[in-house]
Formats: sequence, C-alpha cells, structure tokens
Amino acid sequence: MVKAVQGLSYSLPLGRTLAIVGESGSGKSVSSMAVMGLHDAKTARISGSIKVGGQQIVGMGEKDLEKFRGSGAAMIFQDPQSSLHPYFTIGDQIMEAYRAHHGVSKSKARTRAIEMLDRVGIPNPKRRVGNYPHEFSGGMRQRAMIAMALVNDPKLLIADEPTTALDVTVQAQILDLIADLQRDFGSAVVFITHDLGVVAEIADDILVMYAGSAIEHGPVEKILGTPLHPYTWGLLESIPALAGEPQPLHPIPGAPPSLLAVPTGCAFHPRCEFRSRVPGDRCTTLKPDLIPRTADTGRASRCHLKDPDQIFQTEILPRLP
Ligand code: SF4
Repeated sequence: MVKAVQGLSYSLPLGRTLAIVGESGSGKSVSSMAVMGLHDAKTARISGSIKVGGQQIVGMGEKDLEKFRGSGAAMIFQDPQSSLHPYFTIGDQIMEAYRAHHGVSKSKARTRAIEMLDRVGIPNPKRRVGNYPHEFSGGMRQRAMIAMALVNDPKLLIADEPTTALDVTVQAQILDLIADLQRDFGSAVVFITHDLGVVAEIADDILVMYAGSAIEHGPVEKILGTPLHPYTWGLLESIPALAGEPQPLHPIPGAPPSLLAVPTGCAFHPRCEFRSRVPGDRCTTLKPDLIPRTADTGRASRCHLKDPDQIFQTEILPRLP
C-alpha cells in the first residue's frame, strides 16, 4: 500500500482558481483524479469526503460517476494529443461529450460543437469541426480539449499542467483563454502546475504539496509575497533570474522522497537547511500539523519553525532572484 495523498483538505468557491503546486510525485494529480472519480476501485482506496456542488464523490457508483464527469467536473491534461482519439474528428468528439449529457440530435450537437470551437478561438470553426486531431497544432488541440471540457458547463474544471507541452507564447494564450472562460462560465478551476510563473498569472489561492501532504496554503499574494515554509522558499529560490547579471541556479538539494519510504517527522527534513533551527529532534520525529495562522485569514503552514516570517525577510528575500 502506497499512501499517495494524506489528510488533504481544501474548499473552492465557484469563480475562484486554486493552483496546486509541487514536484512530481507530490500528490497533485492523484488527488485531482480522486475528485473526478477516476481511480480504479479495485486498486485504490479513498477515504474521507470529496464534495463537488453538493455531490459526494467518494463511494459513488460508476453510472453516477459517468453522469458527474463532464457536467459536475471536467479535466484537461498536459498532452492533448494523447487525450484526443486520432480516428475521430474533433467535432465528433465534442458532440459525443455533449450528447452523453443531453439527449439532443446530432445536428444540434454539431451546432453546439461549432459554437464551442468558436468560443475557444478556433478560426473558421464550421470547417475545422470536421478536422482530425493531427490536422490541429498543439495549441489548437488544447483549445479543442478545453471546448470539450466546458461543453456541458461543469461546476469545476481541473487543468493538469495544461500548458507544459506548449511553447511559451501559446502557453500565455491558453492561460488567458482559461481565465476568460472562467469569467463566462463561472466555474471553479483547480490548476495543477510546477511553474510558479503560471501560478502568479492565474491563481487566487495556492496549495503547495510535498510527499502527499499540503505543506502551505493561502491566497496567492501571501504565498508568493511572504511564504512561510522552507520548501516554498526553495521553490522560489530555484526560479532562474531573467534580468541583470547571470546568477547561478539555487536548486533545492536532494530529491523528493519515494512514497514507499516517506521520511519520519517532517517529510522535507532531509532536504531542509533550517531544521537545525528547531530545538531537539522534532523535525525528524514529529510530523508538523498544517496550522492555520490566526493573524492571517485563510493561510496555513506545516512547519515547526517559530519565526518563519523573520527568516524569510532577513535571509531568504535578499537571496531571491
Ligand atoms: Fe524544515 Fe523542520 Fe520546518 Fe520541516 S519542520 S520544513 S524540517 S524546519
């Protein structure tokens, strides 16, 4: 048994975007797949509660999950090429997603598919609706995936690294499109990424994950402006400086732990340069709780350090690129 995610808890109102940030294997995608009910019940065990628009997902039967996926929540992935079926036209795939939830004729579904392609910025949608995925560029395929995800007006859109496979200018267009559509559709968005630049652009709140647990959570301006956790400091320090003299990179030392052998105490302790500041052996023996900051509404951090604000202001801030 691998505990891929432990004790994760968050809520997200309609119209807001939560960025889930962390390295590979931190539990970002696994937890979001659980929200979609995508884990195989024979191999995965999920306990607790996951509610989307009042619907309880944990324990939901496959038939109800099929109805929920698409209209309750929809997901887009990193590589639209592998999410689209190569033998069917883009239009057929959007129409199928629409008809699965609405008992409408093919011609009505086709009209809806054309409308959606137009809405996500595909030029000449009446002609393009009959194209196959290989006839679209990478950016256009991701736009088509977004059209398919939103065709049933879901309450929640989960975007799992949707811009990672795209070049930088197309990335910016897709981020603008998601933000724009969110305003129109009013859905909640969970945006999974390891790119803090993307987070600054799109998120209202950030949840930083490490080894299957949330280690810092709060509004974007607080987490990026005055983070409290040494791991978040490391993520910020490892962003390369784009202006001024070239600076050496400051990667976080070591590698994320295997989930088969998560370190005792604070899972980050083998990589943390601040653990000697905590008295005794608490960092290596006692897992810190995710403690809400009473003075800072909506913010929480999982670390034994007593004075993280002061360390950030005096030691980390001067080191940031
Ligand atoms: Fe570092 Fe200790 Fe805080 Fe973990 S609890 S992040 S090891 S100082």
